[in-house]
Amino acid sequence: IPDDEDIQRENNVRGLTMLGHFGFECLPHQLVNRAIQKGFSFNILCVGETGLGKSTLIDSLFNTNLKEKKSSHFNSNVELKIRTYELQESNVQLKLTVVKTVGYGDQMNKEGSYQPIVGYLDAQFESYFQEELKIQRSFVDYHDSRVHVCLYFISPTGHSLKSLDLLTLKSIDNKVNIIPLIAKADAISKNDLQKFKYKIMSELVNNDIQIYQFPTNDESTAQMNSSMNKHLPFAVVGCIDEVKVGKRMVRGRQYPWGVLQVDNENHCDFVKLRDMLLCTNTEDLKEQTHTQHYERYRCFKLQKIGFTDVGPDNQPVSFQEIYEAKRQEFYDQCQREEEELKKKFMQRVKEREIAFKEAEKELQDKFEHLKRIQHEETIKLEEEKRQLEEEMMNFYKMKAGSETLQTQGYTNIKKD
Ligand code: GDP
Repeated sequence: IPDDEDIQRENNVRGLTMLGHFGFECLPHQLVNRAIQKGFSFNILCVGETGLGKSTLIDSLFNTNLKEKKSSHFNSNVELKIRTYELQESNVQLKLTVVKTVGYGDQMNKEGSYQPIVGYLDAQFESYFQEELKIQRSFVDYHDSRVHVCLYFISPTGHSLKSLDLLTLKSIDNKVNIIPLIAKADAISKNDLQKFKYKIMSELVNNDIQIYQFPTNDESTAQMNSSMNKHLPFAVVGCIDEVKVGKRMVRGRQYPWGVLQVDNENHCDFVKLRDMLLCTNTEDLKEQTHTQHYERYRCFKLQKIGFTDVGPDNQPVSFQEIYEAKRQEFYDQCQREEEELKKKFMQRVKEREIAFKEAEKELQDKFEHLKRIQHEETIKLEEEKRQLEEEMMNFYKMKAGSETLQTQGYTNIKKD
């Protein structure tokens, strides 16, 4: 019996292989293929005191050993350690940038602790903003370093947030998506943990600190996300070492009384965090970064330069009009400043000229005065010279008279 292919070959008809999808319902597949080809990127900021388990948690999340040196407690100020890794799971490539605080909470100066973090977040926005402003933009090979999520590590005190936690969270909550984590949660008992979680959430609300809420507007994830929102802050435990439990090897921390399994949802919230962060909401975190946080920064920057969408009459203003008005305003200001400078310069020249003239006149007067004195002195000296000469003449006369008298006296004596 001839099969379909034989009949097609005989009739010279081109056969189509069944793909399962036709028409524009294939569009999502194009996006998936393109995204896989391009690879993904994700930027995480880990903020927390030294030794709270930041490096260990990142290793646990990405199931890798990123070989970090242990941080010291003796840094004089807070620094940020930035590392970019190229990771691969099956055919998906991920460019992961991890930024970690070093020395956070080790200094007395609280402002110095959170300022470098705020500065870093702003610097990444600024760099993207500058790229956007360029005439020839190159977003194809641009490494977007804007931070998509901040994992904030809370010390497992079981008591409350520290003032540094509140200060830092307040200064960054409108710049980045914050997911609060109770670090080293194996240090708190189950009952205390619930109370601690409740305490932290109420402190965040009381201080008007916005943390990232898993979105509930997508039907497929709404239920799970809304239940996860109730588990915040996640109580996490990190570990990459494996221990034997029964016949299985599991990632966990071995204690004298048993094993805390990192990947067991009954033991800690690590799996919840990993699912929310890497499986369900990665794209939403990136979208929120662009549409909320970066947008706020961009808006602030443009307003600072003087741009606005509506004029004083509440009518829309075109970007070009504002730009031209600004350029004209700048040009006028330059002109005004140039005029002002010229005026000041002329004034200074005039003042110096007057001062020079006055000095010249003073010198001239002094010269005249000295000349007059010298003239008077000369006259006086000549008068004295004349008098002296007269006196000398008289003296010589008197001398000659006395000599004559002497000679006459001498002759008379001889005659006698
Ligand atoms: P970082 O300075 O915040 O990066 O902290 P590290 O990841 O270097 O961890 C500091 C120490 O804490 C290491 O000895 C880790 O083994 C340990 N550690 C990390 N995570 C946990 C955890 O969840 N629970 C406990 N008990 N110890 C942890």
